[in-house]
Order: sequence, then C-alpha cells, then structure tokens
Amino acid sequence: MTTPFFPSKLPWVGTTIFTEMSALARQHQAINLSQGFPDFPCDPMLTESVARAMREGHNQYAPMPGLPTLCEEISQMVMQLYGASFDPLTEITVTSGASEALYCAVTAIVRPGDEVIVSEPAYDLYIPAIELCGGIPVRIPLSFPGYRPDWQKIRDAVSPRTRAIMINSPHNPTGAVLSAEDIRQLSSLVADTDMFIISDEVYEHIIFDGLTHHSVARYPELRERSFIVSSFGKSLHTTGWKVGYCLAPQSLTTELRKVHQFVGFSTSTPFQVGIASYLRQESEKIRGLSSFYQQKRDLFLQLMGGSRFRPIPSSGTYFQLMSYASISDEPELVFSRRLTKEYGVACIPVSVFYRHGCENQVVRFCFAKEEATLQRAAERLRQV
Ligand code: PMP
Ligand code: GLN
Repeated sequence: MTTPFFPSKLPWVGTTIFTEMSALARQHQAINLSQGFPDFPCDPMLTESVARAMREGHNQYAPMPGLPTLCEEISQMVMQLYGASFDPLTEITVTSGASEALYCAVTAIVRPGDEVIVSEPAYDLYIPAIELCGGIPVRIPLSFPGYRPDWQKIRDAVSPRTRAIMINSPHNPTGAVLSAEDIRQLSSLVADTDMFIISDEVYEHIIFDGLTHHSVARYPELRERSFIVSSFGKSLHTTGWKVGYCLAPQSLTTELRKVHQFVGFSTSTPFQVGIASYLRQESEKIRGLSSFYQQKRDLFLQLMGGSRFRPIPSSGTYFQLMSYASISDEPELVFSRRLTKEYGVACIPVSVFYRHGCENQVVRFCFAKEEATLQRAAERLRQV
C-alpha cells in the first residue's frame, strides 16, 4: 500500500510546543510550568453542576449556536463588566474552546490573498489558521523587552488587501496589556477602512496591578467590526473542558456560525448546562480571579528573587516571562529542553511564537499552580 504524496498545507508546522514540552515534562518527571493550565481543581460546585446535568439527561446535541441559557448568562456578564449589550440569540455563539472560535472567525472572513495583521510573538494558532485559508499573515513585531505595539509600523502595514487585524490582551505569551491609548490608536487605524478585528480576550479576567481590561466590547466603533473571543477554560480553571465563545454583531455571527456548524456543529451539552447553572449562582467568583492570580505571580517572583533569571513584567494572564541572558546563550528551545531534562522544570521558549523564530533568551513560565508547586519549581530554578 502506498499513500499518495501530497504537499502539506502547513509544511513549516510540527506538533505544538505545548504538546512537546508537556510530554517532555512527563518523560523526565519535571515540574510542568510549560503548557498553560492550573494544577489545582476547579470549584467542586461546578463539577457537581456538570455531573448533575449528565445525570439529568442533558446528553444529546446542544443547539448549534449554543445553549440559550448559557448565551443569556454570557450576555449578562458582558453587560455587567463592559456595559455592552449583546443579543444572546443572534450575537453570541458557544464554541469548543476559544481555539474553535478563533478558527471559525478567521475562516469566516479570510479569502485567498487577504492580508491579516498579527503582532509577534503571537499565540500559536493565529498564523496557521490564516494560512489554511490562503491568507497572508502580515507580522509586526512587538517591541522588546516591553512587548508594546508599534502603531506606526502597524499603520504602514495596512494595504488595500488588509482584511483584519488580530489583537490579544492580556497577551499570551508576554503578559502585556493594551492601554486606553492603544485602543485609541486601534480605533483610528480601522476608522474609514473595511478591516475586521479579531480580539482574543481569553485572559480578560486575569489582569494585575489595578489595570483595566480594555475589552473591544466597550467601544461601539470597534465592536461593530469585531469578533471577541473568550474561554471558560481560563475563567473557571477548566482548560480541559474546551468551552469558549464568540461575541460579534449579527451579520458577523451569521457568517461565523456557518463555519462553526460544519467544524463541530455544537459544543458539549452537559458542560454548557452545568456552566450556565453555575454562573447563575456563582458568577461573582470570576471577579476574584485577578487578585487570586496576582498573588501567585507575586509569590513566584519573590521565590525567583534569588535566581539568575530576570523577570520581564507581567501585567496579566498566568504567565511570567524570564530572561536567562545571564545564565546561557543557548537558543530558547535548546535551553528549555535542557532545563526540563537537567533541572526538572519545564517552560516554553518564546521564540516559537514567531513565524521565523526570534532569539531573545526569554522563556515563559506558567504560575497557575499550587503554592507548593511554585516553591518546588523555584527551588530548582535557583540552582540554575
Ligand atoms: N488564545 C490564547 C491567547 C490562549 O492562551 C488560549 C489557550 N491557552 C486560547 C486562545 C485557546 O483557548 P481554549 O483552550 O479555550 O481553546
Ligand atoms: N494556551 C495554552 C498555553 O499557552 C496551551 C493550549 C494548548 O495546549 N493548545 O500554554
């Protein structure tokens, strides 16, 4: 039997760094601060709520756009947080994780030859999703080490073929946060154009030092052209459940759903039922996430104080970048693998978030961990 040869649609892509580093961590029994996920349980009331949904027989297909009661809860939450009204029936779609929402948004609007502006470092799925649609990612570097957008460079990159700009705040992998001034720049960039915005806001509830999350939902002139994506994986400590959603004006939601219905059709029913009834009673808990994670960030920074790693400030997400410039001049991937094997702590090289790599001797640690895990990890990292 011979499988016919065919040219890969993503020739430069391998298995994601998250899969590689988590597997390496398991293989070497390393403490896994690489892939972003909590090592502590979610609220038992939430698991009970989902289990009850299964027991009560909510085990068949959910409505394609999402369970109406969950869309209603999301709508209320967005209204409370950002003062923005999204119609649960026509402007909110529940997806199998933020990943699916992002993929569907890109697929709904990008045609072959369209350009999409992306800041680098960029979360790993953006560029492959654009390329699978025949689109052209126009990559604009964030500054180093502050990871700020250079709006002049972004303006210079706009062309008649620009279909969209993708933004992500709080930003993975850097923890950088867009400011009110950045939003003003974005508004003036897109005014008088036909550009769409895909705004990845999965870390919207994890923002530090009293900063404000400038959701695109707050700005009428932006939301009218935006897909806003979020995930319960981050806000409920349940990354493995893969329940996310997309807010968008009705005309964009219609197009997004045309893709969503053929990618997965609908999202797991008992999880939607369980999350909806949990949010009805406990949505306040999400508001405590920033201080919960800020404590973890501060603890990790304090524990790493005696090490040769140098932190690059994190203003949101559950990631902390660290420079190892005073330790080694190895490339980031080589250093990350060695750290895992020799010192027993897994991290993520930031270079992989650039389409063609970029070596700054910076790695990403996930601090969504129990205190004891952070203590053990820092103890090892102080030996490096
Ligand atoms: N965007 C960003 C910036 C992320 O960090 C993640 C996951 N960590 C996702 C999207 C995907 O979220 P989900 O797991 O809900 O698909
Ligand atoms: N978003 C998570 C991270 O940045 C990983 C998600 C995944 O494994 N695809 O670590």
